[in-house]
Amino acid sequence: MASLLLVEDDTSIRSALVRSLGDRGHEVAWTSTGRAGLRHVLDAGADLVVLDLGLPDIDGAQLLRMLRAVSKVPVIVATARDDDDSVVDLLEHGADDYVVKPYTAANLNARIQAVLRRSEPGRKEPCLVVGELAIDLPGRTARLAGRPLDLRPREFELLAFLAGRPGVVVSRREIMAEVWHLPYGGADKTVDVHVSWLRQKLGESATAPRIIHTVRNVGIKLVDPATG
Ligand code: CA
Repeated sequence: MASLLLVEDDTSIRSALVRSLGDRGHEVAWTSTGRAGLRHVLDAGADLVVLDLGLPDIDGAQLLRMLRAVSKVPVIVATARDDDDSVVDLLEHGADDYVVKPYTAANLNARIQAVLRRSEPGRKEPCLVVGELAIDLPGRTARLAGRPLDLRPREFELLAFLAGRPGVVVSRREIMAEVWHLPYGGADKTVDVHVSWLRQKLGESATAPRIIHTVRNVGIKLVDPATG
């Protein structure tokens, strides 16, 4: 459980998120303006801030810089801007992750968990386990049903990224930004090629997927085949 601050001026988005993130065990505070959000972080603190970029009083990107000047609190920005330049810019200016509207509470929650795991001081995350797949993050090794997987560095990062969000479909664009730290060009087959290599090493294929599934026109997800 984490104490979250949601800075969002859209009442319907906000109330839905307060409820669904609350259902997932978080304590959720909210403000509808950037200034109130900044004040809340300074006065009450938060484990993580979800920041809408389109706020009535301060531009969200500007608020992000103001927050960063006074606090190390992790920030996930919620953006309606789906262009690579602004997303890269936000990540360079201190956002820990981003979601593009409209997003689901499940997707946001997976990102919240991943950002919190990365940011908790002193906390090591020794292993990610999804079904028979076990990933040792500090050791950068992975096993499937106890058998070590021989992965190249980028394959390991791709697998760890997907396994950190089990059941969540991530777009190739997000994978490109998160694993390669590069904007995604429509003709770029890099992600698909690495997914294909990864599948071979997991002993599966695109036509008979078990762990890694392609969702047509949307993206890729990693699942525990035992639970779907
Ligand atoms: Ca807004």
